[in-house]
Formats: sequence, C-alpha cells, structure tokens
Amino acid sequence: MRLRTLARRALRNRTHPTVAVGVGLAATQVANIATTTWLHRSLAHNAVTFDPRVVKVYDLIIRCSTGMEPNEWAAVHQQHHAHSDEAGDPHSPLMDGLATVQFNNVGEYKQAAKTEAVQRRRDLLPATPYEHVKWLSGGRGLIFGIGAAAVLLGPVNGLIVSLVHWPAYIGLSASVNSSHAFYRHETAITQGKASHLLWHFYNRFGYRNYETGEYSSNQRWLAWLTMGEGLHNNHHGKPSSPNFNHKPEELDFGWMVIRWLERRGLATVRNPPITLP
Ligand SMILES: [Zn+2]
Ligand SMILES: [Zn+2]
Repeated sequence: MRLRTLARRALRNRTHPTVAVGVGLAATQVANIATTTWLHRSLAHNAVTFDPRVVKVYDLIIRCSTGMEPNEWAAVHQQHHAHSDEAGDPHSPLMDGLATVQFNNVGEYKQAAKTEAVQRRRDLLPATPYEHVKWLSGGRGLIFGIGAAAVLLGPVNGLIVSLVHWPAYIGLSASVNSSHAFYRHETAITQGKASHLLWHFYNRFGYRNYETGEYSSNQRWLAWLTMGEGLHNNHHGKPSSPNFNHKPEELDFGWMVIRWLERRGLATVRNPPITLP
C-alpha cells in the first residue's frame, strides 16, 4: 500500500465532528462527577467514602481527563477552606482580583500546589490507587486520555474533544472559585474593569444561605453545569455535608450520583445530609 494512502487512512476521522463536540461535553460532565463526588466530598472533606472499585474508576477518570494528581487537588482545596478569602487562600477573588481567579485558574492552582503548606497537607492523605503508576502520574494520564480519544474517534476529532473538554472543565472550575464574589462593591471597583464586570455578574445571579466569614455565593446556573458545585455558599456553610442542595428548590446532581451509588452498596455517606426550610 502506498505511503500516502496509509497516512490518509490514519488521519481519517471515524465519526462526524459534532459527535466529537458531544463527547467533549460528556467528558467534562464525567470529570465534574469525579471532581465533586470523589475529589471534593470524599478526598478533601471525607463526607462520603466509595467502594475501592469505584475509587479506581474515579482515579483513572481524573488522571486521564484532567491530568491532575487527586491528592494534590484535595490538599489545595483544604488550604482554601483553612484560609478562605485571607492570606494563604490559593484562589481568593478578594485577595487576587476576580479576573485573576477567573482567567488564571491553572496558574493559581500550580502555584498553590508548590507551597509548603499544601505539600504538608498532601503528605497526610493516603495514596490513591494509581498514585505510583508512572504513566498515569504527573500529567501523563492526560496524554493517554487525548491519545485514546484520537484512536477511537480519529485524530482531528480527538483534538476537537480536547479543545471542547479542557476549556469547559477549567472555565467551570474557575467559576466555582470566582463565586467568592460577595464582597463590597467599592473593593470590586479597585480591582479593574474585568473584575468589576465579573463582580456584577456573580452578584446579579448569586445569593447566600449562610452568613459565613468569607464571601462565597450560591450560583444556581453554575450548580446545573458542575454537578452541584455552584452551591458554594451552602458548602462553606456546612463543609462536611455530603449534599450541597440545602433548600428544596436547589439542585445537586452530584448528590444524586452519590445516592445512586449508595443504593448499590458502592458508597457510604458519613454525615447526615442538610435540609433547610
Ligand atoms: Zn470544599
Ligand atoms: Zn470556596
């Protein structure tokens, strides 16, 4: 077979690009489920524990869809709770400016992960199943994830999946961090135009159920897109609660996933869920 024919076959897409866009969006939601139910509610807060088989699947999903180290994420997040909106918070809109938190999410995360305080927290967490597997650690899992998409759907579609999923996942995670926007308007003005505009956006659509010592808010639109993570003020009000939907009109898909796994004996809820009138 001629070389050119071989190359053309290898580069041929195996499905329509719109399918790749759908797969990219689906990958984001799968990564969101693993992030909120496992990284956040289980590893960082111990509000729920999962069957070891589920943990293996979650560990693989996080490594291949985000390239992150699960315990590193949990340690950075614990640092956020210990110093919310004060010196030492890895991503505080009040301290760093809303635009920085919204648009430099990855940079802020990487910087926080290197600090001694976060390293100390990480050392206290037990190893996850694939922590010592070289080809899945240090971001290499992401290369495997992109490679798998390219092999299954064709190289161009693999690229489309990555270009849809990565910005969506990063953008939504950044928005959860940016929901700490309920500080004074005067402060937002001093942060510059982009931050000021974002401040109006989050204050327009957000609300608080808990008067906590930081500036988190609930963003219902974001909760829909992040499997419940957008109910961030509820979470700061009761950090050890396994559910983020504290009022009847609030929706938390992540909590539904936990309940579904619990019914099958694959999850154990460690703290009673919170319900507000
Ligand atoms: Zn948390
Ligand atoms: Zn927070």
